[in-house]
Amino acid sequence: MTEHAPSFPFSSQAADAALARPPVDEADVIVTGAGPAGATTAFYLAQSGLDVLLLEKSRFPREKVCGDGLTPRAVKALVNMGISVSEQDGWVRNKGLRVIGAGKRLELPWPDLASYPGYGLVRTRLDFDQTLARRAQQAGARLSEGVTVTGPVLDERTDRVIGVTARPTDGPADGSAERAYRARVVVAADGNSSRLSVAMGLRKRDDRPLGVAVRTYYKTPRHDDDYLESWLDLWSGDRLLPGYGWIFGMGDGTSNVGLGLLNTSVGFGHTDYHALLRTWLEGMPAEWGFTEENRTGPVRGAALPMGFNRTPHYHQGLLLAGDAGGMVNPFNGEGIAYAMESGEILARTIAQALARGRRAEAERVLAGYPHALEQAYGGYYALGRTFVKLIGQPSLMRFATRHSMARPALMRFALKLLANLTDPGGDASDRLVNGLSRIAPNPEGAVMQAIPKMGSWHRASEGRKQR
Ligand SMILES: Cc1cc2nc3c(=O)[nH]c(=O)nc-3n(C[C@H](O)[C@H](O)[C@H](O)COP(=O)(O)OP(=O)(O)OC[C@H]3O[C@@H](n4cnc5c(N)ncnc54)[C@H](O)[C@@H]3O)c2cc1C
Repeated sequence: MTEHAPSFPFSSQAADAALARPPVDEADVIVTGAGPAGATTAFYLAQSGLDVLLLEKSRFPREKVCGDGLTPRAVKALVNMGISVSEQDGWVRNKGLRVIGAGKRLELPWPDLASYPGYGLVRTRLDFDQTLARRAQQAGARLSEGVTVTGPVLDERTDRVIGVTARPTDGPADGSAERAYRARVVVAADGNSSRLSVAMGLRKRDDRPLGVAVRTYYKTPRHDDDYLESWLDLWSGDRLLPGYGWIFGMGDGTSNVGLGLLNTSVGFGHTDYHALLRTWLEGMPAEWGFTEENRTGPVRGAALPMGFNRTPHYHQGLLLAGDAGGMVNPFNGEGIAYAMESGEILARTIAQALARGRRAEAERVLAGYPHALEQAYGGYYALGRTFVKLIGQPSLMRFATRHSMARPALMRFALKLLANLTDPGGDASDRLVNGLSRIAPNPEGAVMQAIPKMGSWHRASEGRKQR
């Protein structure tokens, strides 16, 4: 929708005057979507004293298709927001990752680091997203639930986003209930499909990884497992597929069970995920109870946009956070931590930008957001994109699974790499992961150079263990 408006809200005296006492349809910042990215962005913006309007199409508590697993990275993000993660408050802790593959089973505790806690969590998204959204409200964000954003409002002269149009989610879709909201900055945190980004011409990139995953819940005696469990053996005939299955005990009598595949697999796009899940679960011990009678919800699936698969992250006044910006970790499919972290980086950038008086200065600060993201994840995601390409080859996937499952020290290293859990400086494995991420953007070359180093590091650590 196009509408008359000041050419640039930062420089408009009228807009500034209005913002001193904003009517209900104006804010400093509009955040579209109150998932982990949007709620975290809104929380930090409100903490900075900005007037934030958080528009969410659904009403909390609401379901979201997810594995419900949180690594220590996500725990850190929660702690940063002052959210209690105690067991009394309903969080279920885990000690690490159990990996099953190539006929072996390894228990890998979360690494012992200064930068991250030594435990992960599980929590249904029904509770999790509501907790985050309420935390943003406590900090002062104005949350409007049941409001669907329908498009951007553009400055007629510059095509810059100066607001959004929205309607009540359960109201008529014919435009009659639509209204406009204005803001100095607009954030798209509306998830994988990010219709707001698409409306601004920002589409998913075909050259970037994408995952698809399905999940459901079963009543099972395994519900109080204190390890997250990951199965590497997903087969299609005699092809080992790039992806994994998971069983995450929810501690409430059920487990979240699902699987995900990468778009680098030959069968991507014509895989029957429900059938794959069924076949995989048929191979499980009967006493675990993964049967139709014990299934407590539907099998539901969604896409995982990985490795910056929508760019640029700043375009014409619109800033992208979380899945909207394709920020899922390509190594392990984890998205919540990155949604929250990108939300924090974004909020700090916006707070700095809006504190500048002049348009050009503010614009320069906002334009720094993609650079800040690149600095935080650019090298690591470039490496992840190479990893995804390599494991898309069934023979390489089979070799990597067999080779690494037979070497616990290598798998401890792999856990740090795949979950992005290292200390700056740190031990030899931390330095290797950090170094690899720095060498990218030539990740293919970096991986090839690093393989001999990984071998010697691995031999040294095995040798130390034997002595
Ligand atoms: C099957 C599956 C399993 C997964 N398992 C894990 C896991 O175990 N751990 C992990 O870390 N990650 C996991 N992920 C990834 C994780 O779910 C996402 O990365 C994460 O939810 C991203 O958060 P977000 O806030 O960016 O987007 P979302 O969580 O998608 O939130 C977007 C929000 O925007 C709202 N919205 C959308 N459009 C509009 C609109 N037009 N107007 C207003 N509001 C709107 C939505 O209702 C939603 O609340 C999994 C994903 C899938 C599909």
